[in-house]
Amino acid sequence: MRAIAVVVVLLCLVTATSVADAAGKRPAKHHEKAKTKKRVALTTPAKPSTVETKNKRDRSIGAPWSGRLQTPARLNAGERYHLRRPWRTYGTRTTVELVRQAIVDTLDGAPKAHILAVGDLSQESGGWITEHASHQSGRDVDIGLFFKKKPAGYPAAFVRATPSTLDLAATWKLIWNFARTRTEDGGAQFIFLDRSLQTALYRWAEKQGISDKRIASVAAVLRHEPNHDNHIHVRFKCRERDTSCR
Ligand SMILES: [Zn+2]
Repeated sequence: MRAIAVVVVLLCLVTATSVADAAGKRPAKHHEKAKTKKRVALTTPAKPSTVETKNKRDRSIGAPWSGRLQTPARLNAGERYHLRRPWRTYGTRTTVELVRQAIVDTLDGAPKAHILAVGDLSQESGGWITEHASHQSGRDVDIGLFFKKKPAGYPAAFVRATPSTLDLAATWKLIWNFARTRTEDGGAQFIFLDRSLQTALYRWAEKQGISDKRIASVAAVLRHEPNHDNHIHVRFKCRERDTSCR
């Protein structure tokens, strides 16, 4: 009898410990034992993750214009952005997470902005992809612009902007949220955008009193590229651990 009692006590202790582990730092209470499973679920984000990863051994190999991708992450759909071609939304885990975060931060900071068009990252295994010279190694993304009035055809397609049709405030936020990652491992290396739109954005930023430091951060990565007046193209740096990334 005594032996059974000891076993029961030990079992209770083990169960209580695993409940405490599952619940993190919060102390476990007896009546919550049955809810262990539910509590674990609650520690994950309430919204479904927008990043889908097979494992953490993702690799960017070679150059963006001659490279490939291994065990990538995938950018999933979101409520306020539209994936133009969901089968081309693969990247390194870092790229996908930075893209997702920049989009979410931008949309949170611009609650009245219209839906955002998100274009191609890379294909699942990377490699050559139609309509692009790069986008081969999971370190590039094309993202549409924000307009004062959402134009016809958008977000299914990118639409050309002019300084007068562009929503300067929301587009600046989008660019800033990428530019701010430039000092991180695998952060933004370049953001390509037509010069005429850049000029309008810098003028707007100065007028708004955006700090010189922040403007300089944007200028450090923003580059002119022809045919980039209907989207921005963000190129991310090689991560330190991607030794065959160029
Ligand atoms: Zn591109």
